[in-house]
Amino acid sequence: ASGYTLLRDPHHNKGLAFTEKERDAHYLRGLLPPICLSQEVQEKRMMHNLRQYKVPLQRYMAMMDLQERNERLFYKLLIDNVEELLPVVYTPTVGEACQKYGSIFRRPQGLYISLKEKGKILEVLKNWPEKSVQVIVVTDGERILGLGDLGCQGMGIPVGKLSLYTALGGVRPSLCLPITIDVGTNNEQLLKDEFYIGLRQRRARGQEYAELLDEFMSAVKQNYGEKILIQFEDFANHNAFELLERYRTTHLVFNDDIQGTASVVLAGLIAALKVVGGTLADHTFLFLGAGEAGTGIAELIALEISKKIKAPLEETRKKIWLVDSKGLIVNSRKESLQHFKKPWAHDHEPVKELAVAVKAIKPTVLIGTSGVGKTFTKDVVEAMASLNEKPLILALSNPTSQAECTAEEAYTWTKGRAIFASGSPFDPVEYNGNVFTPGQANNAYIFPGFGLGLIMSGTIRVHDDLLLAASEALAAQVTEENYAAGLIYPPFTNIRKISANIAANVASKAYELGLASHLPRPRDLVKYAESCMYTPIYRSYR
Ligand code: NAP
Ligand code: MN
Repeated sequence: ASGYTLLRDPHHNKGLAFTEKERDAHYLRGLLPPICLSQEVQEKRMMHNLRQYKVPLQRYMAMMDLQERNERLFYKLLIDNVEELLPVVYTPTVGEACQKYGSIFRRPQGLYISLKEKGKILEVLKNWPEKSVQVIVVTDGERILGLGDLGCQGMGIPVGKLSLYTALGGVRPSLCLPITIDVGTNNEQLLKDEFYIGLRQRRARGQEYAELLDEFMSAVKQNYGEKILIQFEDFANHNAFELLERYRTTHLVFNDDIQGTASVVLAGLIAALKVVGGTLADHTFLFLGAGEAGTGIAELIALEISKKIKAPLEETRKKIWLVDSKGLIVNSRKESLQHFKKPWAHDHEPVKELAVAVKAIKPTVLIGTSGVGKTFTKDVVEAMASLNEKPLILALSNPTSQAECTAEEAYTWTKGRAIFASGSPFDPVEYNGNVFTPGQANNAYIFPGFGLGLIMSGTIRVHDDLLLAASEALAAQVTEENYAAGLIYPPFTNIRKISANIAANVASKAYELGLASHLPRPRDLVKYAESCMYTPIYRSYR
């Protein structure tokens, strides 16, 4: 290949880091200015440039351009500056990028499969340049973050999630495939937008939708084999639960909004036990919000307790209560409940208000997963404080404006006694001379390591016990020093090490359950996980 082609291939391009010898050997002379730079200097220069941009979306676009130009440098930046760049390539900035995807769109970064491709999906997959793919993240764009239906413009999400698979979990970029399924959108604004990139029609539902997804799921397995991991992302909850249910026994599927969220929150709860005391079985849980996140978390807590105390799920679910938009979920409402809420209908008189529910149920843990901000009012938080020495309060709704309460409110209203974590990041809070650092229950703690664990062991199906294994591994990474600062999650700076530990624990469980197909089992799974991880250091071309 010519030097010119080499410079335009993001997988191989090193820009000014090509050495004198490489310039001679690969016909690069004259195509580059005379100076040679190290990757470190390139990184420093790029970070300097990024920090000049005051508008987050500009940083996002600069990062996407870098990914398109020099993939290794992109990942080097992301890995070395994870805390600074996570909010750029992922939430919250990726949300804004999706909203404006039509006008900032430059080059496709993944596969688009729309209703037009019905009957031809296998051919479409074959158009993708990489033949051996191991992870697909797929969305249909109907519930992007907390932003609703963004249709085809949801593509930013699979692209962003997969870049975290690589940066945080060490899964090689060539093994990752972002896909957006376009069945239309019900977003009126987008339908009218002249720059919208998707099908200009209302969403297909029912049989038409199910058939397209079924063709997609079969084509993926046919093209990439049994062990391809398919991560569902940001589907609306009716489809999310159904797809997971339909394909969990035939494919290696994982829904991050349901299962990933559950695993990361359970990890925080297990870690918090060190501070609040007792075992999970000693606690009573109250949720505001009974959708993908709320019921997913609730189910995993119930499962963990049932394993620990060897009690049936029907028993352990009884100490977990959920409130939805109509109030506390109780037995007298059972007939009209969606099926994923039914396990949570317990005996109680109807209660409308959250504050009243707190006083009636007396929870030790309060979890917000409603997507509605400011719902943990002073009344609610004070009730938690009067019931508990150390109330555990998780305000998980995103983005920041939708958080159930702020970190400052949680600490102030409980007079500094709350253990608090949130979905969106909050700055440390000073209260009465003490500094409290709120933890962030970010799904990015779990899914990259979880996926790596599945891939490296050749696991063929996701089992709930693997999620528990991931939670326990993450909780074990919280240090005494983190606890002292009020944290129930470890800092992101060590995420590659954390991911390796999660991957190892997940793989170990998969071997134990007979779900892993890569034999023999490596003896030291943490070391093995680390050895599987992609590093973005430049290779030298001879
Ligand atoms: P979802 O499936 O749409 O569920 C939302 C639930 O909240 C539904 O049960 C809904 O009630 C309930 N709800 C809505 N308004 C309410 C109100 N005013 N009072 C009480 N309940 C109300 O959404 P999801 O996927 O679970 O996500 C929910 C939120 O969690 C989002 O903001 C998301 O960003 C956040 N989240 C955070 C993390 C994290 O921190 N790592 C992970 C995932 C999700 P009905 O069922 O009656 O409609
Ligand atoms: Mn999601």
